[in-house]
Amino acid sequence: MPPMPLPAHLADAIKDENFWKNLEALVSAGGEIMPDVIVASRKTGSTGSLEQRIAERCEVARMGVKLASVTGSALLERGPAPRQNPPIHNGMMYCVNMVDKIVRKDYRAGQKHELAKLPYLFKRIRHLLRVFYDFLVGLRPHPDLVFCDWEQMFDVGLTLHEVGLCLQLDPPRLRAAMAAGGRELESFLLDDDLDIGDFRKAAIETERRVAADAESEDADRMAASDIEGMADKDIAAHVLAWFFGDISVAFIMNENTGSDADEKRWAGKALTRLVHWSTSATLRTTLGDSLTDAMRPIYWSKPLLIKFSQAGGLGALFGDWANSTCRNMCEEVLENLPDAVWENQTPASLLAVTRELQTKLHQETSDLASTPIFVNAFFNIYRLYGLAPFHKAARREKYDTPVVFYYVAHCIKRDTLQMRTRKDWARLLGEYVAMPRSTEQRYRWANYTISGRWDCLEFHGCCASECPERRALEALREKRVRGVRDPSVEARLDAWGAKPKACAACGDTSYCSAACQRAHWPTHKPDCLKKRKSAKRT
Ligand SMILES: [Zn+2]
Ligand SMILES: [Zn+2]
Repeated sequence: MPPMPLPAHLADAIKDENFWKNLEALVSAGGEIMPDVIVASRKTGSTGSLEQRIAERCEVARMGVKLASVTGSALLERGPAPRQNPPIHNGMMYCVNMVDKIVRKDYRAGQKHELAKLPYLFKRIRHLLRVFYDFLVGLRPHPDLVFCDWEQMFDVGLTLHEVGLCLQLDPPRLRAAMAAGGRELESFLLDDDLDIGDFRKAAIETERRVAADAESEDADRMAASDIEGMADKDIAAHVLAWFFGDISVAFIMNENTGSDADEKRWAGKALTRLVHWSTSATLRTTLGDSLTDAMRPIYWSKPLLIKFSQAGGLGALFGDWANSTCRNMCEEVLENLPDAVWENQTPASLLAVTRELQTKLHQETSDLASTPIFVNAFFNIYRLYGLAPFHKAARREKYDTPVVFYYVAHCIKRDTLQMRTRKDWARLLGEYVAMPRSTEQRYRWANYTISGRWDCLEFHGCCASECPERRALEALREKRVRGVRDPSVEARLDAWGAKPKACAACGDTSYCSAACQRAHWPTHKPDCLKKRKSAKRT
C-alpha cells in the first residue's frame, strides 16, 4: 500500500495543540522507563519462592502499567458498573478474584476440588470482556454491562497473568487444574478461537479487499484505516494474551517432563496456537506486547527456541525484535541464533521471517541490512531454501519498503554469484546498503499497481518540483473515472516513472528528463556537493 493517509481521528488529534505536548510527555516517559523495561525483560524468575518468581516475571507487565499511567492506555479503561465491596456477585472482579483465590490460595490449602470451577469462571471473564468491548467499540448495549466493574483493565489482565505464571511455574498444579476442569477447560485453554471481535474481523476483511483491488483509491484505504482504528479499541484479546501465553508456554515446557498422552496432546495444541498467534501479522498487532512478554521463556531455552522455530514460529522472533518493548532481549538471542532454528521451514514460515526483516529494515536505516543478524538470516535462508523465498519476499516490496530481497535475488542471478559463506553475504548486503536510492526508486515503481502509481505522482518519479509531465499527469488523474482504464494514458504514466535518470554525481536524485534535471540543478546543487563530500570521506 502507498503511505497510509492519516485516519480521521489522528488527523484531528494532530491539530490539537495538546497533541504535541502529550507526545513529548510520552517520548520522555518512554525514555525514562525503557532502561527499566530492558532490565526487567532479562529477569527469568528462576530462583526464590513461587511468589517471588511470579513477581519477578510480572515486572515487564508492571512497567507497562507505569508507562500507561503517563501516556494513557486502553488498559487503564474503567468498567462502567459501580464498584462494590465485596464485588458484585458474578461480576468481572468477583470472577477474577475467585480464579486467583482458587489457583493460588485454595490449592495450597488442599482444596483442589475448587479447581473444577475454573472453566465457568474463565468463560464468564471472556464473556464480560466481549460485552464491554462490543459496547465500547460498536455501541451494542447488553444487560450484562452491569457486571463490568473493574477499576482498570490492567486489574483483569495482570491478575490473570499471575495466575497463568503460577500454573506454569508449578506443573503439578496445572496438571491438577486440567484434571478438575476436564474437556471444558481444555477447550477454553487450547481449542477455542481467539476472541478478536467483529471490528477486527471486518478490518482484516476490508484490508484484504482493498489490497486485492488494483484500482483502490485513497478513499478506500482511508475507510479501511478507519475500521482498523475502531478495531484497535477492542483489546479483549490483548487483555487475555498474557494468561494464554503463559499457559501455552507451560504446556510446551511440560511436554518433555510428562509421559502421558494428555500432556503430549496439550503440548502439540499449545505449540500450534502459539506459532499461529505470534506469526500472523494481524494477530500479532491485536495481541501486542503482552504475548511477547509471556513468550520470553522460549527465548531463554535453546531447545525450546529450536522447537518453536522449527514448528513455524521463527518469524515471531524477528517480529518481536522489530515490534516489541522486549526487543533488546530479542536482539541478543538473534545474534546468537543456532543454525538449527532454520531447519524444517515452510514457504509460509519463511514469508513471515522475511516480512519481519522488511519491517525492521523499514523502521531503521538501510545500514542494518549488513549487520550480523541480517547476514546470518540471508545466509541460512539461501543455504537451505535457495532463491525462492527471496523472490517471494521481493513481491511484497512496494511503496516505501526497502528492496533488499529484490536486490540480492537480482544480483545473484545476473552475476551468477556463488553465495557459499557468510562473508559472501556480508559483501553483497554491503553493496545493497551502498546502492543509490534512485535505483531503489526505479524498482519500486515497477512493483506498484496502477492506482498506486497514480497515488504516488506527488512524491515519486521525478525530483523536479515543477516537472511539466507530472503536472500533465495530475490533470489526467483528475479526469480519471473509476472502472474506466485508458491504456495509452497508463503507458504514459508508466514511462514517466519507470526509467528515472539519476544524478550522475550523487546518484541520490532522479529525473524523468534532462530538462527536469537542468531545471532542478540550482536547488539540488548544495545537497549534491554535500553528498559527494560525505561519500568521499567514507
Ligand atoms: Zn520531470
Ligand atoms: Zn546529485
